[in-house]
Amino acid sequence: MSDLKYKRILLKLSGEALMGSDSYGINTSVLDFVAGEVKDLVAFGVELGIVVGAGNIFRGVAGASRGMDRTTADNMGMLATVINSLAMQDALERKLVTTRVMSAIPMQTVSEPYIRRRATRHLEKGRVVIFAAGTGNPYFTTDSAGVLRALEIDADVIIKATKVDGVYDKDPVKFPDAVKYEELTSSDVLRKNLRVMDAAGIALAREDNLPIMVLNMNVRGNILKAAMGGKVGTVIHA
Ligand code: UDP
Repeated sequence: MSDLKYKRILLKLSGEALMGSDSYGINTSVLDFVAGEVKDLVAFGVELGIVVGAGNIFRGVAGASRGMDRTTADNMGMLATVINSLAMQDALERKLVTTRVMSAIPMQTVSEPYIRRRATRHLEKGRVVIFAAGTGNPYFTTDSAGVLRALEIDADVIIKATKVDGVYDKDPVKFPDAVKYEELTSSDVLRKNLRVMDAAGIALAREDNLPIMVLNMNVRGNILKAAMGGKVGTVIHA
């Protein structure tokens, strides 16, 4: 336990990360893998909050671009995060990790409502808290929701778990000469318009000195290594 650099962590998982190589929805083997990684973190004494996106199911902007009312489309996106959160909860509980889903849109029959003090109490008791329904407001993203919840629970870091192993100066999939950054400042990210997370999330993290780590979640042990202060991915300092 004493080897941990970050004791309380907010893990942001994009919806697409749960999709694996599928083109839509939830890939159960990916979910099972992530649950295993989370179990290891908890076993080491990390207090963990998770925010899950919904890009694997529905994004508000995509609905709006097809003519839907933006607020309605975003509400649908937030509800889709609840589906992913329940799937994550199920995968964790099958591995005997105790969890609570707390939704920003009250949905008492399937989850607890989000109440900050109750959330921190769960964390203190070693329960993994899955924050569902984003911020509860349209026109936001789950990246911003991740930073917001990280600040509210007083997390030491927000880890954005992705398919790439950090932040590059250009898309490493398209450009083989792309260079990875080991460290960055939030201002660098905003100025260079790097696609790490949305600008609102970055700005919020900067305001409150919350470090952001971006790493590849598909490498076994990566998240735990990061929690112990190992060199993984890219760190963005305020
Ligand atoms: N969303 C929202 N408010 C929030 C968080 C999310 O309206 O506070 C909606 C929005 O439509 C978004 C969708 O939920 O497109 C899914 O979240 P996101 O796109 O951030 O998922 P990810 O890219 O992480 O998979």
